Amino acid sequence: MRRLNLNLNLTAIIVLTAVGVLLPVMLATAVGIVALVIADDVGGIVTGVLVISFAVTAAGCALLAVVLTSRKARLARRQADFVANISHELRTPLSAIRLYAQTLQSGSVADDPEQIARCLATILRETEWLDVMIDQVLAWRASSRDMLTLDMQTRSVTDAVSQAVERFRAMSAPDELTLVTAMESSLPVEHDNRALNAVVLNLLTNAAKYTGADKQIKVSVRDEDAAVVIEVEDNGMGLTAAEARHIFQPFYRAQRHDGSDVGGVGLGLAIARHLVQRHGGTLTVSSEKGRGSAFTVFLPAAAAGGRS
Ligand code: ADP
Repeated sequence: MRRLNLNLNLTAIIVLTAVGVLLPVMLATAVGIVALVIADDVGGIVTGVLVISFAVTAAGCALLAVVLTSRKARLARRQADFVANISHELRTPLSAIRLYAQTLQSGSVADDPEQIARCLATILRETEWLDVMIDQVLAWRASSRDMLTLDMQTRSVTDAVSQAVERFRAMSAPDELTLVTAMESSLPVEHDNRALNAVVLNLLTNAAKYTGADKQIKVSVRDEDAAVVIEVEDNGMGLTAAEARHIFQPFYRAQRHDGSDVGGVGLGLAIARHLVQRHGGTLTVSSEKGRGSAFTVFLPAAAAGGRS
């Protein structure tokens, strides 16, 4: 409803501008041109030039007003979408937690320790998802206001990556996916453990979200000359070249052609890239539609003498 109102307001402003400003401007320009053509003294020429200048200035102001209004409307629409999406995202794990807690409370599985363990494991997993989502929103708020402070330490990044992998395992159901790791890095990198952990966790959760039933994910860390490369690969739906160009923009979400929705707010990759750039590194994607994606974090190694 709110989106409809915003669209109507914008259309009304554009129509009003067209009728109320552009028509008089066109008339004034025509009058100015006629005045210039038939002018036979300096007064006539000055009048023609003044009328045309006025018309051009009015047209410029009207154009600026339309651009600013549509930008404001777009921003308001994004904020409304964001609130709706994040509410939906939070409700999904909350519903699962409620369902499993009610099952435990009802006593229907009281005699079955295996079922009890399964309910508790699901509750813990869903709580972990909630935690990750809230972290993401807070990180976005901090980074968009330039308030993100990093606690930089110089050491190998394998700890941060391993912690993200452990957290990701805790969020995934047993047998839900195949996760292969290859940690072959020893170069020290100046980094914030929590931030890097969040970057890798985001890439891993995306790898799981945007992959079909047979989820195969590989996370690797390796040294390359004076840099450390972290790669997260999946065998999922992949991206077209056009989609790959936009996925790091805040709030962008690629269209899913099968109509399904795995949920999301389109902030994870924007935050991840921002965090990697704050480390002087790059985050890129290489992907093929229908075959999978590989996200690569490239971090400069610390100068020789850093603590490993
Ligand atoms: P979200 O997952 O909440 O939508 P992200 O910023 O993490 O937000 O991702 C932006 C978009 O990039 C996703 O909506 C999805 O379309 C695309 N994407 C991200 N990771 C992958 C991946 N591993 N495979 C295919 N598409 C992906």
